[in-house]
Amino acid sequence: MKEKKKLSLAAQIFIALVLAIIAGLLMQNYADFANSYIKPFGTIFLNLVKFIVVPIVLFSIMCGIISMSDIRKVGSIGLKTVVYYLCTTAFAIAFGLCVGNLFKGMFPVVATTDLVYEASEPVSFMDTIVNIFPSNFFDPMVNANMLQVIVMAILLGFAIILVGEEKNSRVIQGFQDLNDIFMKCMELILRLSPIGVFCLLCPVIAANGPAIIGSLAMVLLAAYICYIIHMAVVYSLTVKAIGGLSPLDFFKNMFPAMIFAFSSSSSVGTLPINMECVEKMGVSKEVSSFVLPLGATINMDGTAIYQGVCAIFIASCYGIQLTLPQMLTIILTATLASIGTAGVPGAGMVMLAMVLTSVGLPVDGIALVAGVDRIFDMGRTVVNITGDASCCVVVHNLEKKKEMKNN
Ligand code: ASP
Repeated sequence: MKEKKKLSLAAQIFIALVLAIIAGLLMQNYADFANSYIKPFGTIFLNLVKFIVVPIVLFSIMCGIISMSDIRKVGSIGLKTVVYYLCTTAFAIAFGLCVGNLFKGMFPVVATTDLVYEASEPVSFMDTIVNIFPSNFFDPMVNANMLQVIVMAILLGFAIILVGEEKNSRVIQGFQDLNDIFMKCMELILRLSPIGVFCLLCPVIAANGPAIIGSLAMVLLAAYICYIIHMAVVYSLTVKAIGGLSPLDFFKNMFPAMIFAFSSSSSVGTLPINMECVEKMGVSKEVSSFVLPLGATINMDGTAIYQGVCAIFIASCYGIQLTLPQMLTIILTATLASIGTAGVPGAGMVMLAMVLTSVGLPVDGIALVAGVDRIFDMGRTVVNITGDASCCVVVHNLEKKKEMKNN
């Protein structure tokens, strides 16, 4: 019965996606109308999702840690997760650079004179690290600073384990109850996702239509080819070889989350639906409640690919040939930049400034791709959340094997 209901939500989301594309194409001459009267409903939905994300991340990571009740286990899951995230992201950016180079000859040469792009201050690496640690108890929650929320959750979770379950049983029960309440809230909000998907996607298609893709078709194509190959090869392989799950089952279960990510362009927003998808694959709550919220904030393979392809494109527009050491620098900075990239629409483009600056490419070049950023963003968000889920499957299986060996 429950299974049927979930399936039908996935089907509804898919239908909403198809309808949004059709309606968007039909409404190209009425893009203003779509923007003024359809988009606000999408925004309402996204607001509700954002409203629920902070408590979900806070309580699910905390309860995930508490449920492990053993600091070594948290450390073991944490280490595997971070290693997987960093390796796949570094691979993604290297792959993006390779495909960017392959496509270079086909990239359009866009005039770069008179380009003006107002880059926000690029954040330095050390600042990124410092900004992870909150200086106020409420600030991270009020400003939805997810990295800081994660640090809070980890600290509180550890503290609860250290104080000991006996002394804490009421507090633990209280947090678990709160977690259940917010999960229920999320379930209610998710029922609105077909409407949200439609209202978010339709105005984007109406405003951009196929025409805008025009001159940048090759750059978009290069990025989308990378997105698809990265998911099909890297995630299929890891899920099959280390996660012990058939890639087909993996992608079938991930479908609702992927569609949602595509229309919302927000990893953090997709978090609740992603959690449901991995749980359907049999991943334990213990793992998913820790790995996914962390991934939605620090793991951005799609964004890394986009940064690689765009760096090559922008360099070629300025007639600059990137050297191998420069490309290695890009791999390093983009991997670190992905940690600091918020899982919200457009964040990857801001971090592109940091990547370009690291190798002395003109930041103004971002203006070349800014017009179609949303189209890049839809695809990269799908890759970002799929990467998080693949990590869940892998870590879950490794932990399961370890437990079986120990018993
Ligand atoms: N929108 C992306 C995400 O939420 C981040 C980005 O802009 O690259 O994952």
